[in-house]
Amino acid sequence: MESLNEALNKLGLRSTRQREVVYSIVAEAKDHPTADEIFVQSRQLMPAISLATVYNCLETLLECSLVRQVNFERESTRYEANLEPHAHFYNDETGQVMDVHLPENLLGQLKNLLPESTFVARVELNFRGRLQDQSQSSAINPNKT
Ligand SMILES: [Zn+2]
Repeated sequence: MESLNEALNKLGLRSTRQREVVYSIVAEAKDHPTADEIFVQSRQLMPAISLATVYNCLETLLECSLVRQVNFERESTRYEANLEPHAHFYNDETGQVMDVHLPENLLGQLKNLLPESTFVARVELNFRGRLQDQSQSSAINPNKT
């Protein structure tokens, strides 16, 4: 994991087995795990790891800009290693988080809404809602007989 080493070295930190484990879990996750979920997975690889250590590792990875936080009101902080600008859809019914691709021109349009004196470091755009009830939508589908 060269990028992890490089990013840590820039801050004068060294790569530890704990940091590697926590980073690999976040990097491979597709579901924006919470610290608790990362802790459960970490323990499968390192039974002695503590929740405090997982939090410390996540803090370090955030400082190195290797992971980022995804926050929804009244929900636990989630983590992801996908640093490309993208939006999120939070399913209020299942608690699942979906990535939403943001076209580059849309990002530009959003930034244009701001006064010229502003500098955008990052864009956070979240949607909340639920999936359409599939059984209901097929019931009113005229093609279904
Ligand atoms: Zn995401």
